[in-house]
Amino acid sequence: VAKNDHRGVALATGAADDVAGRQRLTTLEELRVGLDRGELALHYQPQMHLASGTVTGVEALVRWDHPRRGLVFPDVFLPLAEHAGLMGRLTLQVLDIALAQSRDWRADGLDLVVAVNLSASNLQDTTLPGHVADALSRYEVPPAALHLEVTEEILMRDAARATAVLEELREMGVRLAVDDYGTGYSSLAYLHALPVDDLKLDRAFVTHCDTDPRSAAIVKSTVELAHNLGMRMIAEGVESEAALDRLRDWDCDLVQGYHLSRPLPADRFTAWLAERHIFAQVPSEIDT
Ligand code: C2E
Ligand code: MG
Ligand code: MG
Ligand code: MG
Repeated sequence: VAKNDHRGVALATGAADDVAGRQRLTTLEELRVGLDRGELALHYQPQMHLASGTVTGVEALVRWDHPRRGLVFPDVFLPLAEHAGLMGRLTLQVLDIALAQSRDWRADGLDLVVAVNLSASNLQDTTLPGHVADALSRYEVPPAALHLEVTEEILMRDAARATAVLEELREMGVRLAVDDYGTGYSSLAYLHALPVDDLKLDRAFVTHCDTDPRSAAIVKSTVELAHNLGMRMIAEGVESEAALDRLRDWDCDLVQGYHLSRPLPADRFTAWLAERHIFAQVPSEIDT
């Protein structure tokens, strides 16, 4: 009986894997169709310059507006897209949407920087800088108004190729940030070598920095590290006024998090800006 039970469990597990596998395949097929149909949408989350209290930019975060399932979040479809080799197409669509939005904002007098996330495979693609340059000129957006975020893991693949792609982007005048800083496997050596402008400290260290002494120590020393390297420090995952106050005390440059706003569709973001009378400023007018 025990044997049969055991086999029964194994079979059941196999069946569950099949269901999960089929589900992933369906999602992937639907994603291919969704990319063709333009079902990707971006939500924008404000980034605030602490010293001046102005919103200087937004991070563009991708969502999939699925015809039946509604809004699907990136943790569901980005791993599939990456695995299936769809990430190049996806990123170009995201850039297109973000830069079209940037052009519209600029036409309305909103000089916001837009930050776009890159995936691991994007930095292995030596045609990426050319595509970025094309998109910037197509929408007449100055390169300095585009920031690109990369995680530490990205560099673990082919670091030489990734560095070459990053260098080309930076030479164009695009600003680069290390995202989720502190959660990857990289050593300090890459900070020394990489052409990056900003450190974006992961929210794991930020959210409770007002109450947790170890988080506080990490935040404070990361601000110092960033500044000593000539970089800016961005804190993500700011969820309270208390955390915001500490970050200001510690000289953090930019903050982002639910305490300011969740990521919002473009129209709701501009309404949020107007309601709060927080006006965007040309980042170059702010001494950072
Ligand atoms: P990320 O780049 O680190 O983006 C920040 C994530 O944290 C976002 O989740 C955002 O909604 C969430 N977040 C913002 N403020 C807070 C806060 O105060 N508390 C908490 N708990 N969370 C906060 P989201 O939008 O689900 O995106 C998840 C990840 O998916 C992103 O992490 C990024 O790695 C990836 N991603 C999103 N959009 C794109 C994209 O267009 N391209 C690529 N390659 N990756 C993207
Ligand atoms: Mg990011
Ligand atoms: Mg992050
Ligand atoms: Mg993240």
